[in-house]
Amino acid sequence: MTGPTVIATTCPYCGVGCGVDVRISKSGEEVALQNVSGSPEHPANHGRLCIKGSKLAQTQQSQSRLLSPVMDGEEVSWQQAISAVAQGLKHSIAEHGADSVAFYVSGQLLSEDYYVANKLLKGYIGSANIDTNSRLCMSSAVSGYKRAFGADAVPCCYEDLEQTDLLILTGSNAAWTHPVLYQRIERAKAIRPQMKVVVIDPRRTASCESGDLHLALKPGTDVALFNGLLAFLDQHNALDKAYIQAHTSGFESCLDKASDWSVATVAEYCDLAEADVLAFYRCFAASDRAVTAFCMGVNQSSSGTDKVNAIINCHLASGKIGRPGCGPFSLTGQPNAMGGREVGGLATMLAAHLEFQNPEHRDWLQGFWQSPAMAQKPGLTATELVSAMESGQIKALWIMGTNPLVSLPDRSRVERALNNCPLVVVSEVAASNDTLKYAHISLPARPWAEKDGTVTNSERRISRQRAVLPPTGQAKADWQIISQVAQAMGFNGFDYTSPAQIFVEHAQLTALHNQGSRALDLSALTELTEQQYQQLEPVQWPVNSNYPQGCKRLFTDGKFFTDNERARFIALEVREPKQRCSTDFPFVLNSGRIRDQWHTMTRTGNCAELMAHQHSPFVAMHPLDAADLGIEAGQLMVLSSALSNGKVILELQLTQDQRRGELYAPMHWNNEFCSHGSIAHLYRADCDPHSMQPELKHAAVNLSRA
Ligand code: SF4
Repeated sequence: MTGPTVIATTCPYCGVGCGVDVRISKSGEEVALQNVSGSPEHPANHGRLCIKGSKLAQTQQSQSRLLSPVMDGEEVSWQQAISAVAQGLKHSIAEHGADSVAFYVSGQLLSEDYYVANKLLKGYIGSANIDTNSRLCMSSAVSGYKRAFGADAVPCCYEDLEQTDLLILTGSNAAWTHPVLYQRIERAKAIRPQMKVVVIDPRRTASCESGDLHLALKPGTDVALFNGLLAFLDQHNALDKAYIQAHTSGFESCLDKASDWSVATVAEYCDLAEADVLAFYRCFAASDRAVTAFCMGVNQSSSGTDKVNAIINCHLASGKIGRPGCGPFSLTGQPNAMGGREVGGLATMLAAHLEFQNPEHRDWLQGFWQSPAMAQKPGLTATELVSAMESGQIKALWIMGTNPLVSLPDRSRVERALNNCPLVVVSEVAASNDTLKYAHISLPARPWAEKDGTVTNSERRISRQRAVLPPTGQAKADWQIISQVAQAMGFNGFDYTSPAQIFVEHAQLTALHNQGSRALDLSALTELTEQQYQQLEPVQWPVNSNYPQGCKRLFTDGKFFTDNERARFIALEVREPKQRCSTDFPFVLNSGRIRDQWHTMTRTGNCAELMAHQHSPFVAMHPLDAADLGIEAGQLMVLSSALSNGKVILELQLTQDQRRGELYAPMHWNNEFCSHGSIAHLYRADCDPHSMQPELKHAAVNLSRA
């Protein structure tokens, strides 16, 4: 037995992207994971970890693994499995065209995995039908940033959360979903008590603990709230007219739309006290620096992109952007949602932030890859893929690292769609989950501790995720599996032998024809050797000749990535959520995460200490609503929506933290843990028209005793 070795890697859960030091011991060929701790020198967490990160060793050890490829219920060799996938894809393309093939991937993939999957489908098969579960997470933020800034470019860094005068947390329970960031915020507020925190959320959450003001607004009314703020800034001489004049376009028409919203009309529409609205507006106007950090409560909405732009409008109008402690800041849910955006993991984007709409970009990309069949138009997004499977348009689907049965809306429809798809391939770590049951071919993938590559966190920081254990069973890296299938299909350009080669190719692509015209630029990393890649320190893009050590904050020079380098104000109408309550379905159901679980529980659900916080699915309700219905805490309730099979059974919890007429239930529970707790049954696939992000915070439901 040798003494412990410490390997620096990154937590695989949320978009904070904390650095993790993993201690392993070796005895002969045996390598054992001893424990994990926060990396003191990682800039995201400075040694901190939340409970999920601190239990990584336990979740790694307790997970039941898929150990070998399986076809139609029988174990097969890798050679058989790779050949079968390649033949299946080729058959589908030959019989039904390239667009009969789709990949549904994940923010859990590393950037190198994502890059190769995107290259195979968009560049070689010639279809853009590759979408990611990040569509459910932050695609509204992407659309909002692109509309305003001309690029999917997050302006801020984590230090801005600490340096600001006013932090607005909207649609985010960061205390539970981004706990280490929240710890940093709490510490900053303890050091500078004059720093104000405003929490905007229909529920009173743990994040309100540090808040000076909580606005429990009516769900879906965010655009009105921020339109009202813009009008208030105008009426109270709190605009930065010089900034608007020098660096933006479209202000007048934007203000014109917003000016209908007075404090009184906002208070009435958002169901808030006028005094609270006024206090928020005055605080924003009086603060030299403000950050608005937003998450799923903003993004997962049929008007998610408008909500993002309503926030951005206020920051542009007050010049609270491009400076320390300022900016509209999207907190990404997953560890590598941002990395997927960089390498083209969304059906609507090309790699390296190149655009489908620009024929030159498509040509550059095809020339760079020397590929045979470049996709010419955006592909189908997550919920559109489901419809296309249901109608028979998609004949072959490859799912990688995600469990869409539990996470996509309208579970029954997803089940029908998968049943209707002639070839379903699933690359997966777990031995069983809800989605694997629909796989014709299952491929064993490597989990966090066995994967090697890079991820990008919410502040554009690329960090290495390093393998700390040898692969278990026959598990392979996702990039290896995809490359081997590509080669078996007869394609050149996939002879990678390491993730470093893929990363360098990605960096070279970002540098192609990029004279600072695109935000994502890794031109200072195009010559990395294997050793330099191994030792790569966390760095925020762009990383180029202007910023060889990376760049904390974007737009410091007031120049944006639009054609005229001006940020765009977006004039916004207020729209209602798509699902309205009725006498049959009188309650609004909100969904979200709880403190100690991650996604569909395939990892965190196996750890007893993490399950101890909340061992079963529940629905939360205001006590007065329960009294009206004559129901009590602890009773099992049937929740139903208008969807066929739209029923789940959950235990009732009563809390004053809920608004009247509204319910809350966690999104995590899968059928493996509870056969009746998967709330995906209740949500319709209503989407934002710009981002195609589903409205997963607003279903109309009823409830009755089970
Ligand atoms: Fe992991 Fe997020 Fe917790 Fe950090 S805050 S340890 S990244 S789950």
